[in-house]
Amino acid sequence: MKVVVVGAGVIGASVACQLARGGAQVTVIDAAGVAAGATGRSFGWINASFHADAAHYRLRAESMAAYHRLAEQMDLAPVRWTGCLCWEETGAALDRQAADLQALGYGVEIIDRVEFAAREPHVADPPERALAFAAEGVAETAPLAQALIDAATGLGARLVLGVHALGIETRGDTVSGVRIAQGVIPADRVVICGGTGSVGLLDGVGVALPMLQRPGLLLRSAPVAPVLSHVMVAPGQEFRQDPTGRIIAPTSPNHQSDSTEHVTERPDLLADTAMARLQVMLPEVALRWEQVSQAMRPVPQDGLPVLGPCGPQGLHMAVMHSGITLAPLAGELVAAGVLDQPLSNHQSDMIAPYAPQRFQR
Ligand SMILES: Cc1cc2nc3c(=O)[nH]c(=O)nc-3n(C[C@H](O)[C@H](O)[C@H](O)COP(=O)(O)OP(=O)(O)OC[C@H]3O[C@@H](n4cnc5c(N)ncnc54)[C@H](O)[C@@H]3O)c2cc1C
Repeated sequence: MKVVVVGAGVIGASVACQLARGGAQVTVIDAAGVAAGATGRSFGWINASFHADAAHYRLRAESMAAYHRLAEQMDLAPVRWTGCLCWEETGAALDRQAADLQALGYGVEIIDRVEFAAREPHVADPPERALAFAAEGVAETAPLAQALIDAATGLGARLVLGVHALGIETRGDTVSGVRIAQGVIPADRVVICGGTGSVGLLDGVGVALPMLQRPGLLLRSAPVAPVLSHVMVAPGQEFRQDPTGRIIAPTSPNHQSDSTEHVTERPDLLADTAMARLQVMLPEVALRWEQVSQAMRPVPQDGLPVLGPCGPQGLHMAVMHSGITLAPLAGELVAAGVLDQPLSNHQSDMIAPYAPQRFQR
C-alpha cells in the first residue's frame, strides 16, 4: 500500500514511523523540513496533568504509555522522564487540582517547601507547596521528530523536502495521490499531518477543519550550568533546562491556556520580560536569551485533537495541539486506521471523541 504523509512535524513523523513499521510504502512530503513548523518551536512538555476533560486526560495518559512502548522499538534519546513540579495554583485550588488528578488515577504528590528545595535547590524562594508529577517528561522536539523520521526511513520510508503539497487528488470518491507543482505523487492512502497548513488541503476536498488562531513564542537562553532537573510550572511561567544547559520557556504567561490571537508586542521585548521573570527564580546563573521563535500552534476550534478518516475514501488526518504529548498514540491509532487494522474496543473508545466528522455538516 502506497501512503503519502503530508507534514514532517512530530505528528507526521510518528504516523510515518508506524505506517512503515506496518509495511506500507511511505512517502513523507514537507514544504520546509523536518520539525520546521510548530514542532521545532515547542516547549516539549509531555504530560496529562493539563487536559480539557476526562476523555482528553485518558488520551494524553495513554500517549505517555505509548512513548514507553515506542522506546522498546527505537532509540528515544530526545525524550527524558524528568518529572514536573507545578505550583501555578495555591491553597484550595492546588488541593482541588491534586484531588481531581488523583481521582483520574494520575500520580500526584503534594510536596512542601523543604522537599521542593531538596529537589530543585537552585530555584529561589521555593513555594509553600507544589504538585509533583513523577511520570511526566520532556522531549527535545526537533531531535524527536528527526528520530521518528529516521526510524521510518530505516524501514523504507522516503522523504521529500522543500515541496508543497498543493492538493489531494481523487479518482471517483477515493484518493489517488497528492498534487505538487511537478505532478502527482500517487497514493492509495493520504494522511494530512500539516499542522496549521492542513486547512487549505482539506478544504480542497470538502473537509472542514476550523482552527483557532494561536501564536506561540518560545525562548532559549545561552547555556548555563545545570540548575534544573524537572519541568517547572510556576505561576505564569513554565520553564525547563535542556541537555545543552539552555533554559527553554514560552514567553507568554500560562502558555498552555493562552488565548492570545495576535502577538502585538515585539518578540525580543517579550523575551526580555520572560527572561527577567526567570532570572528572579534562578538567581545563581546569569541568564541571557539567545533565540526567540514564533510558531502558530495547530489548535482545532474546540481545542481538541482531530484524528481519523475524513472526506474521500483513503484520506486521514491528524492535527492537534499538545502534539508532543500525543504524537506516539496518534501515530499508533492513525496508522492502524490507514492500514485497515482493527482497533481494540479501548482504542476505538479513545479515538471516538476526536473524529473529524464533528466539524462536518
Ligand atoms: C510555543 C509552543 C509551545 C508548545 N508546547 C507544547 C508542549 O509543551 N507540549 C506539547 O505536547 N505540545 C506543545 N506545543 C504544541 C506542539 O508543538 C504541536 O501540537 C505539535 O508540534 C504539532 O505537530 P504537527 O506535526 O502536527 O505540526 P507541525 O510541527 O506544524 O508540522 C507540520 C508540517 O507540515 C508541513 N506542511 C504544512 N502544510 C504543508 C503542505 N501543503 N505541503 C507540504 N508540507 C506542509 C509544515 O512545513 C510543517 O513542517 C507547543 C507549541 C508551541 C508553538
